[in-house]
Amino acid sequence: MDKLIQGMVGNGDARLFAAITTATVTEAVLRHGTSPTTSAALGRMLTGAALLGASFKDFDRLSVKIECEGPVGGITAEADNDGHVRGYVKNPNAEAPAKANGKFDVRGIIRDGTFYVIREAGFDIGFRPDPYIGSVPLVSGEIAEDLAYYLAKSEQIPSAVLLGVLLRSSEPYVAAAGGVMIQMLPGANEHIVTMVEDTVSRAPHVTELIKEGARPIDLARIAIGELPFELLGEQDISFKCTCSPERARTMIAALGRDEVRSMLDEDNGAVMTCGFCNEIYQLDGTDLEEILASELA
Ligand code: ZN
Repeated sequence: MDKLIQGMVGNGDARLFAAITTATVTEAVLRHGTSPTTSAALGRMLTGAALLGASFKDFDRLSVKIECEGPVGGITAEADNDGHVRGYVKNPNAEAPAKANGKFDVRGIIRDGTFYVIREAGFDIGFRPDPYIGSVPLVSGEIAEDLAYYLAKSEQIPSAVLLGVLLRSSEPYVAAAGGVMIQMLPGANEHIVTMVEDTVSRAPHVTELIKEGARPIDLARIAIGELPFELLGEQDISFKCTCSPERARTMIAALGRDEVRSMLDEDNGAVMTCGFCNEIYQLDGTDLEEILASELA
């Protein structure tokens, strides 16, 4: 099971979030059949959503979204309060040649665009105020830097973010995934800010360490060195979608009587694919007749 920890760095200088997301990213990659570079991009976004979700308190759904000019077209990742994440890309087949250093050219499939963070609340009381939407232009296209830039620019939180996905050529394709996010608190010791930014920017290949069994606390240690760290919480992280056979049925019913009638007459059934998780829901003729007789009667 993937885990995320959070805690306090130094003397109340910063909040730290660290997560191992190998299983979560594996499930997303297998569900969407993404190309290697797209897998790396989606994995970083899902990990970023999990870390950011843990850092915000008051929301029911947090979405991290990139809309871009590059061949991937766009990436969306969502997190809820319980560590469930889900996500998808517009074009799962987008690919770019590896960089000179052998790393995936994530920027190559993203290029220029906009980075969005959307927070929605009020689900439990059935009241939906306008979502809070923040956005910044993409500054790097490698995702971790874009998330850090978003936090600094849009939330006024100087931050350092590290996101990594290590792939392998055969199933289950994802060898390791994880990340660290450090958010400076007001009045943070300048020395600590510089030190953390420096350490994170030169961080060794964390994914190699995750592959060898590193835990979230080990990632935290890599990022903050010997600085004091107080562990404040731990939670599970997993890929989980909100779709279900009942929801698929509701969505078919929402198409209206004429549409459902013609699905019944022409195909004797209907097929729905969830965009977030690629789950396929099949309704047969009897299901459609039931919808016509109950929901659309
Ligand atoms: Zn789904």
